Amino acid sequence: MTIMDLDQTYVAGTYKRFPVEIVSGKGSRVWDTNGKEYVDMGSGIGVTAFGIGDDIWRQAVIGQLGKVQHTSNLYYTEPCARLAKLLCEKTGMKKVFISNSGAEANECAIKAARKYSAEKKGPECFTILTLVNSFHGRTLTTLAATGQEHFHQLFQPLTPGFVHVEANNVKALEKAVEDNNLAGILLECVQGEGGVNPLTPEFMAAAETLAKEQDIPLILDEVQSGNGRTGMLYGYMHYGVTPDIVSTAKGLGGGLPIGATLLGEKVQNVLGFGDHGSTFGGNPVCCAGAVSILERLDAPLLAEVRRKSDYVFSALRGASGVENVTGLGLMIGVKTAAPAADVVRLCMEKGVLCLTAKDKVRLLPALNIPMEDLTFAVDTLLAAAKELGGNL
Ligand SMILES: *Cc1c(COP(=O)(O)O)cnc(C)c1O
Repeated sequence: MTIMDLDQTYVAGTYKRFPVEIVSGKGSRVWDTNGKEYVDMGSGIGVTAFGIGDDIWRQAVIGQLGKVQHTSNLYYTEPCARLAKLLCEKTGMKKVFISNSGAEANECAIKAARKYSAEKKGPECFTILTLVNSFHGRTLTTLAATGQEHFHQLFQPLTPGFVHVEANNVKALEKAVEDNNLAGILLECVQGEGGVNPLTPEFMAAAETLAKEQDIPLILDEVQSGNGRTGMLYGYMHYGVTPDIVSTAKGLGGGLPIGATLLGEKVQNVLGFGDHGSTFGGNPVCCAGAVSILERLDAPLLAEVRRKSDYVFSALRGASGVENVTGLGLMIGVKTAAPAADVVRLCMEKGVLCLTAKDKVRLLPALNIPMEDLTFAVDTLLAAAKELGGNL
């Protein structure tokens, strides 16, 4: 049996995989089982922040692996404490809960917001406002938070207490704040799975103002947009807002599973002893990797991300077969004239791995992708978009 046969026989059929078996990689290049080389413009959905097998990250991880790989949260370990300190120092947030995934980071954020609001305003104050077209995870609660009906249908009843408002519609936001007993406002500053659409500064500012006025925790889901992805350490930093809670994951671990929920001043002490926990959470190997990633997300690196972003936007905007380009930093959505799935398939044939988001081609390359690889990928995407949908 081939690996593809084995997988299709024994692995639960939840993923529609491409017919490619990746066996190894280095930096922004990966190789399949036939030895074919690809430039990786997806980085495992924005996870391998510094590419595959990055030497600094590997050393951090292997070093910790040689000491102790797991202890449980009954004991103190250095990487967990250092990671939390670094996250707080770089953001001004006060406390961090470390978990294992984006969905868990959001679960913790929702629990913290609900507990804060219930204690402050009463138990009827539990509703969380999120946006239409959002994506917050696959657990029953984060699915309820996700403002996309097709994710909900098969799994009723979901956790109650979520309302969804159209993105960038300030009037609708104001009305929802008035009509509901809100315990939190949960936003992605750039909707990733929803099509790589940034919120407008006006909408973000309105959300912050309403949240402050009404003492509603403002929660930013930075699972995809965080950790340098948008050219700032966290996406919200483009908007100049101060969130009360930030959830993040994906790129934070550089390839190992980790999630983090950052608690600001207002909610810093809301989660007390016994209120939340995770057996794997704060795993020393994952945290050691995350510390090494965060330490490198400095001003020059972020400037490099913005420079590469400018290059990609200017190369793709107005090109033949490209209708529009959206996003922030190296979180980019490309609406092609031809169906995105066809463009992605042709790119793959030509040696470039891309993602999709809704009807767009989505690009989430490693933050340190070499220019040579980035130009090859962009040229390939341009060729594919033109070949399949360009004007003659
Ligand atoms: C990927 C993602 C999640 C879910 O993360 P998992 O690690 O898959 O649980 C949540 N929110 C956003 C914005 C995401 O992009």
